[in-house]
Amino acid sequence: DISYKQEDGVLYSARDMAVMRASIEQASVVLASATPSLETWANADIGKYNRVDLTERFGDARIPEILAIDMRDQPMERNSWISPHLKNEVELRLERGEQSLLFLNRRGYAPITVCRKCGDQVGCEQCDARMVEHRFQGYLMCHQCGETKQMPNVCPSCGEVDCLTAVGPGVERLAEEAQEKFPKAKISVLSSDMLISAQALKTRIKEIALGDADIIIGTQLVAKGHNFPLLTLVGVIDSDLALMGGDLRAAERTFQLMRQVAGRAGRADKKGIAFLQTHQPEHSVIKAILKGDEEEFWKSEAQQRRLNNMPPFGKLAGVILKGPNLNDVFNLANNMVKNAHILNSINAQIYGPAPAPIARVRGNHRVRILVKASKETMLQNSLMKWKNSFKIPKDIQVTIDIDPQSFY
Ligand SMILES: [Zn+2]
Ligand SMILES: [Zn+2]
Repeated sequence: DISYKQEDGVLYSARDMAVMRASIEQASVVLASATPSLETWANADIGKYNRVDLTERFGDARIPEILAIDMRDQPMERNSWISPHLKNEVELRLERGEQSLLFLNRRGYAPITVCRKCGDQVGCEQCDARMVEHRFQGYLMCHQCGETKQMPNVCPSCGEVDCLTAVGPGVERLAEEAQEKFPKAKISVLSSDMLISAQALKTRIKEIALGDADIIIGTQLVAKGHNFPLLTLVGVIDSDLALMGGDLRAAERTFQLMRQVAGRAGRADKKGIAFLQTHQPEHSVIKAILKGDEEEFWKSEAQQRRLNNMPPFGKLAGVILKGPNLNDVFNLANNMVKNAHILNSINAQIYGPAPAPIARVRGNHRVRILVKASKETMLQNSLMKWKNSFKIPKDIQVTIDIDPQSFY
């Protein structure tokens, strides 16, 4: 699972560390997952790992049926994200006294706050990122640097009064819509920023599992491992969300996440069903999720990666340079790319430099170089030698991320 990769401070993958340590100490490691990574699947495929399949679910639970709701056919009201089809399904569960989970992987109230007069979006002063409204806590927050500020009364760009409006849904806004559509239902929002401590979260999940909510609204926090025996319906509000951005792992991540979320339904003796609201039911990843054929998905994903020499069939590293002065950062990056004979000698391919997808965080400009090499090379060694052959100014930081999991 990608949450085993630490991306703050020291970059490392806990999974890879465990495998490495076990090989040093000649111990065994058990990687247990209902949704393994492609690396693990591929290692089992070539016989490097022993694969053991658990062919039955816990108790008498069955894998839920997964169906698509084609949003192009659903008449949607303004500022509404629960389709009529999904609404009916939720009502059915309410009548039966069963629980529903509405899944939206977006914290806060609305991802965008826009000015109706000038069209500007309220952004973070330190980052190339929008401020996300958290209405429950009463502030705007940058999800890159954590900076918060009060919702302004006037537009920061044009100064117009009372013109800022929320665009798009976060879980808080979805909860608002659910409360309107199901006025009698007890609704509970589970999102990492809504609960003060891990203990409070545990307690809340236990209460919900015992029936203290009719509708659960949750982010990916709910996707993993929690058992809600009364839950029989999962509605994924925006299945297309995780596919956007289109980085190397978007397909893998979406597949894993959707399978995990759907797996919340019907874990006890009641049959579960999951609906994916999507605008692109013909997308290959969505189709694979609906079909539920994991082996086929991993095989086609593996083939794609093999063709492109992408991990785990090739090596990939992200080199991020960041510093307060954009010119300085770009000059160093260009210099590094021009003087890369160490990398050329192992036939590595170099892409960039280019502004990183989030080009500024906490006031630092970020420039990215991608380096691709074949599996047999000692890429990490060469990258270190290459990096150390430059005199790096004090205010610029160069980070090497082997096998990056996220591409921000
Ligand atoms: Zn404005
Ligand atoms: Zn910020």
